[in-house]
Amino acid sequence: MTITPQIEALEALASVDAELKELNDALTQEREALRGKQSHLAGLDERLERGKKSIEEMERTRADLLGELRQMSVQVERSREKLSRCRNEREANAAQRELEELKKLYRDREQDMERLDGLITQAREETRTLQAERDALASELGASENDVMGRLAQAETTLAEKTSQRAALVKRVDAQLYRRYELVRKRRGTAIAYTTTGTCSACHMQLQPMLFQKLLRGDEFGQCPSCHRILYFRPEMRAEPDQSSESA
Ligand SMILES: [Zn+2]
Repeated sequence: MTITPQIEALEALASVDAELKELNDALTQEREALRGKQSHLAGLDERLERGKKSIEEMERTRADLLGELRQMSVQVERSREKLSRCRNEREANAAQRELEELKKLYRDREQDMERLDGLITQAREETRTLQAERDALASELGASENDVMGRLAQAETTLAEKTSQRAALVKRVDAQLYRRYELVRKRRGTAIAYTTTGTCSACHMQLQPMLFQKLLRGDEFGQCPSCHRILYFRPEMRAEPDQSSESA
């Protein structure tokens, strides 16, 4: 009994499986690229939100500081007046010390204010940069969304077609042979190999003469002892297929 119809069915199945794998990989890649951009956008939104909150907090602190500075400047004025009303040197010295201390506190607070202003300016600049990056990404995503969705939908359609093609091919393969095929395919990616001159076409292992002789008879499949792929004999002529002229 010849195994030629089984070889043809298995080879067709293997070629559909290769196409399916390529399609699935492309789909996964496309989906991951989309998800990557979406999560980058979400990350930028989150950082912007945090940046804006932090600016608001700093501005509240700045308003408090401004209030303090106004109060302190009133105190400094009062202290100056007190100094001008002093009647003896002892009073004047004490008032002078108080005035100096108040002025120093005022200067310290002023420096706090300058630092805070610097931080607010920096945070605003960072927020502007982030906002620009975010807007660019959002418009890039918006512009490519239709393209990506179209490509995804097309790939899904092809995938469905290939999957039903595959189901039809599976019916043509002997059940036990198909189980072996699936077992090897899941481990190796591909499950079928041939030999023409005594080596496995997939792993290039030299086959035992007895195995080669058995395959040469063409009435049963073998298994490569090295990569475990399903093996069959393919004559030299078919090793370099020129499908257009040979199919007849
Ligand atoms: Zn092999």
